[in-house]
Amino acid sequence: MRLFKSKDIHLSALNKGENLHEQLEGLAIELNLSGAWMNGIGASSSLTLGFYDPETKDYEWKEFNEPLEIVSLQGNLSVVDGKPFWHIHGTFGRRDLTTISGHVKSCTIGLSCEIAVMQIDINITRKYDEETGLNLLQ
Ligand code: ZN
Repeated sequence: MRLFKSKDIHLSALNKGENLHEQLEGLAIELNLSGAWMNGIGASSSLTLGFYDPETKDYEWKEFNEPLEIVSLQGNLSVVDGKPFWHIHGTFGRRDLTTISGHVKSCTIGLSCEIAVMQIDINITRKYDEETGLNLLQ
C-alpha cells in the first residue's frame, strides 16, 4: 500500500439522517472553497435521482425510499450567484445487488457516508448554455 497525503483533501463522515447537499454546502462555506471535486461511499435511506432529457431540456425525477448502498458518488463544486453549488452523480445499490444511478437531486444519509473533497484552488463558476439548457462550467 502507498499512502498519499495532501493538504488539499478533506475527509468527511456524514451521519444518519443528514442531507448530502446541505452538509456539503456547509462544508464549502466553512472551508471557503471556490472549487472542488468529491467522491464518496456509504448508505442512503431516501433519494431523488434525475435523468436530463436533452429534447425537453428538463430533468425527469424519481424518488426512492428504501435502504441503498451508496456505491459511488462523484461531483464537483462551483460557485453560482455567490453560493456553493454541488453537481453530484451517483450509483446506488439495492439488496439484490442491482444498481440505479443518475444526477443526485437529494440524498438522505442512511447509516453513514464517507466523502473525500479535493480542493481546487481556482474559482469555478457556471454559466447558462442555450444549446444544452444547462449551467455549464466556466
Ligand atoms: Zn448532473
